[in-house]
Amino acid sequence: MSELVLKIIFLVFFIATGFIRSPYEKRQKQNTIVNDQRTGLEKTLLAGAFLGMAVLPLLYILSPWLNFANYQLPTWAAVIGILLIPPTLWLFYRSHKDLGLNWSPSLEVRSEHNLVTNGVYKNIRHPMYTSIWLWIILQPLLLQNYIAGLSGLVFFGILYFLRVDREENMMIQQFGEEYRDYMGRTGRLLPKL
Ligand code: SAH
Repeated sequence: MSELVLKIIFLVFFIATGFIRSPYEKRQKQNTIVNDQRTGLEKTLLAGAFLGMAVLPLLYILSPWLNFANYQLPTWAAVIGILLIPPTLWLFYRSHKDLGLNWSPSLEVRSEHNLVTNGVYKNIRHPMYTSIWLWIILQPLLLQNYIAGLSGLVFFGILYFLRVDREENMMIQQFGEEYRDYMGRTGRLLPKL
């Protein structure tokens, strides 16, 4: 499949994620934060994810500067990437909707924070991260460039592994037994077998 077609498909996907997130982005700015666990590390990790999932992909799509690092995958790999788009967008959308006002890009608890355990949160504790894993897996299948394709996997991967334990500890601090029970019956990224 042509490089241009794959770039356009990824761009449309990227813009769709922006539309899904933007209403929550606006609303969460009005939240009063009661437990702020945003550290310098956390901010650096978020900046890294932004670089790997937005800046570098857009640079590759819109300029020729990263072309020296291109690779080519067989068509079936690009097709898998395209087929991953609908479930990724669906889960990204559902998890934002179910989390509602409790969503934030970083580690913090707002006043009147509710523990969400329904919808896509019923069997999975981190469905939004599951959707982002799907995103960074489809990224190198569509953007066939060592820098723009793999940067999402590298930077979000680091963010995820350094964050997820701290996020769960923060939730235990906030919700105690209720969150421990919830942990007992759910899986992190996939439903518990
Ligand atoms: N890790 C979740 C949410 C990501 S957004 C997911 O992947 O779906 C990060 C914020 O969500 C954290 O600051 C935390 O305050 C909040 N959060 C995480 N799990 C939650 C839950 N089950 N109910 C309510 N808020 C939650």
